[in-house]
Amino acid sequence: MSPQSYAKQREIVIQWLNTILPDLRLPTEASDEELRACLIDGTVLCRILNRLSPSSPNEESSENSSVSQPENVKRFLATMDELGIPRFEVSDLEKGSMKTVVYCLLSLKLHFISSGEELSTLSTITKAESTDDDGSSPGSLQQFFGEEMRNAFPGLKLQCAMHNQVILEPSPAVLKHVGHKFHEVFQLKQACYADLPVTKILEMMESNSLESAPTQALLNVVYGILDETAETMNGKIPHHVACLLRKAVQEMGRRLSTQADHLRTQNNLYRADEEKHRSKIKELEALVSVSRKETKTANSKLEEQEVEKQELMKLVKENEKNILELVAMRQELDIVGMVHKFCSLEMEAEAKAAIAILQLKIKELECLLADSSNKVKELEASFESKCQSWIMKEKIYQSFIDFQFEAMQKLRSSSEAIKQEVLETQKRYSFEFNHLESKLKAVTDAAGNYHEVLKENHKLFSELQDLKGNIRVYCRIRPFLPGQTEKLSTIENISENGQLVIANPSKPGKDGQRSFKFNKIFGPDATQGEVFADIQPFVKSVVDGYNVCIFAYGQTGSGKTYTMTGPTGATEEEWGVNYLALNHLFKVSQDRKCNTVYEVAVQMVEIYNEQVRDLLSSDAVPEACMHPVISTSDVLDLMDIGFKNRAVSATALNARSSRSHSIVTVHVRGRNVKTGTVLYGNLHLIDLAGSERVDRSEVTGHRLREAQHINKSLSSLGDVIFALAKKSPHVPYRNSKLTQVLQSSLGGQAKTIMLVQLNPDATSFSESMSTLKFAERVSGVELGAAQSSKEEKDVRELLEQMASLKDKIAEKDEEIRRLKSLRDLKPRIPQQQQL
Ligand code: ADP
Ligand code: MG
Repeated sequence: MSPQSYAKQREIVIQWLNTILPDLRLPTEASDEELRACLIDGTVLCRILNRLSPSSPNEESSENSSVSQPENVKRFLATMDELGIPRFEVSDLEKGSMKTVVYCLLSLKLHFISSGEELSTLSTITKAESTDDDGSSPGSLQQFFGEEMRNAFPGLKLQCAMHNQVILEPSPAVLKHVGHKFHEVFQLKQACYADLPVTKILEMMESNSLESAPTQALLNVVYGILDETAETMNGKIPHHVACLLRKAVQEMGRRLSTQADHLRTQNNLYRADEEKHRSKIKELEALVSVSRKETKTANSKLEEQEVEKQELMKLVKENEKNILELVAMRQELDIVGMVHKFCSLEMEAEAKAAIAILQLKIKELECLLADSSNKVKELEASFESKCQSWIMKEKIYQSFIDFQFEAMQKLRSSSEAIKQEVLETQKRYSFEFNHLESKLKAVTDAAGNYHEVLKENHKLFSELQDLKGNIRVYCRIRPFLPGQTEKLSTIENISENGQLVIANPSKPGKDGQRSFKFNKIFGPDATQGEVFADIQPFVKSVVDGYNVCIFAYGQTGSGKTYTMTGPTGATEEEWGVNYLALNHLFKVSQDRKCNTVYEVAVQMVEIYNEQVRDLLSSDAVPEACMHPVISTSDVLDLMDIGFKNRAVSATALNARSSRSHSIVTVHVRGRNVKTGTVLYGNLHLIDLAGSERVDRSEVTGHRLREAQHINKSLSSLGDVIFALAKKSPHVPYRNSKLTQVLQSSLGGQAKTIMLVQLNPDATSFSESMSTLKFAERVSGVELGAAQSSKEEKDVRELLEQMASLKDKIAEKDEEIRRLKSLRDLKPRIPQQQQL
């Protein structure tokens, strides 16, 4: 034995000792000496025996400390001998190797494990063996095994009732798991079981491998051991082999008992089956009795059936009757059949007749068919004849078309001829057209002449205007203003012939009255249009090349600006002379545009304190800018600018009082389209400064100078007009800026309109009087017949012609004189020579 395997065995023994005697607490890897120290006094050995067999009679003595060490050990060894477990010597325990001691304890453990650890076994054996001297004989062993089996059976029985059959014979899986151990054992069959180490046998028994081994293997083990015992050991079985044998036999016994249980249960099952079969037999017997009863009922039914049979007989008889009836009916049927046959024969005859008729009809139809085929033939023939006729007709048409074609050719040629004729006619027509054109020219010439005549008319009209006088004085009285409450008027009477009677409010009656006569008086109700109607002919004369001046004269607030311009924001009806005059000029120029092309330009200046200022531009005068205009809206825009630029100064009388003269000059240039003659005319529209006399004691400084300038310029205007009227060799144009500016337009050929404005209010009487006196002075002046610039030119031409004629006459006279002197100097020159 190797030291390792010995150590292993010692370890197993120590573990076992610790298990059965827990207070021992021997270390598992304790040495031989430590184990010896523990066991030497024999107390532990006695305790082992007591623990394994508590009922043992040794118990009291073993625990008895008074018992000596050799006694304890001896008692233990005696028990070992009784159990047939290999013993050790006392000397082994005292000194030397502990192997025999360990082996003995191991065998003891094995013994108790193999006996199912039934601790009573020990006592049983001890009792049994106590009477038997030869405890180690095979006979006592046999007895021991039998005893073991008996003891083991009750527990096994219980186990079998709980386990299934698998327990009896282990499953292949279990075999596979533990089979190697039995394989080893089986192999050992040839070898010696007695030589098998105790650990090996212990291992086999502990691992439960016997339970898993097949029964044959167990039997083999048993037979093997028995054979071995018989052959080699003379009936003596070593203790450990006996253990294995006992275990194997136990296992087999267990299996036998389970099989017996199984058989018992099977038997029970068979018994239960038998019971079942018996009850079934009883049931079958009951069924037989029931069927007997049913047979009885069937018999009664048979009786009933017999009754039914009798009824059936009756029915048969009835049936026979019925058959007889049927025979009768059949006879009837035969008769009916006969009748039917007869009828069918008749019908056959009828059918034959019908067939004959049909055959006749077929024959007729055949005849008809023949007829129709004949007709078809006829139709074919007629068709052919018609075809012939169509062909004939086609030929005729062809000839007709040929004829038509010829006619077409003729028509074409005739159309050519017509075309020629048309061309000739066209030529003739153009010739006549030209002729007509010349005639039309003559007519247009005549029309031109008509325009000439028209011009002549205008001329005559102008002459008429001239005869009426070159200066016209109109007086306009403005209405009372809406705010004026005291409407005491100085106007006594206005008559149609231009007479105005004015009354002095401080001198009532005829003494205070004074009458004036002017070309026209416009009352407070006169509209802007009515006033312009009398100015319009003068405006028109501008287009004919005349210069026209229209003055508005009067005290501040008398309506000068209203008449010339209109109120601020005037509607078309409220437009003043300025706009209406320009509008009229545009209208006339438009009417005459076929003959004359007009160009209109506007200038606007003001004279303030004897200084001229251009109102339409910031440039310095005298060369005021000319602004070409083509429509009334242009004029409106320009005048808006002009009036905004006009210098104004507030006075006590009128917030908008103008302290300057404003002059709008309209230049008109007309060029005759045919003759190329050019006419110039201009229109001056003058809104004069207020004419009121200023009290020198009231105003000073620049207001005084302003008033002086105004007075001077207005009196100069009067003087100029007066001088012109008197045809005075000196006209004082240079006395004021106003007369200087208007010099060219106040000449002999100019026409002048003085619009004298009056404030009707009584408080303005004296001013009105002075205004009227100025106007009276002016209206009494005759500027002489005005002449148009064209006339002047004509006269000039005539004068030039006269001068040239005079020159020619003088030349002729000179020639005559020369010739006369020649004749006088050479009297003897023969007359023939001269000829
Ligand atoms: P002047 O220019 O002479 O100082 P205005 O033309 O300014 O005078 O006229 C003074 C006031 O009288 C203005 O309010 C004007 O509208 C009004 N007026 C003048 N004439 C007429 C008229 N014929 N009809 C209605 N109102 C007029
Ligand atoms: Mg004014």
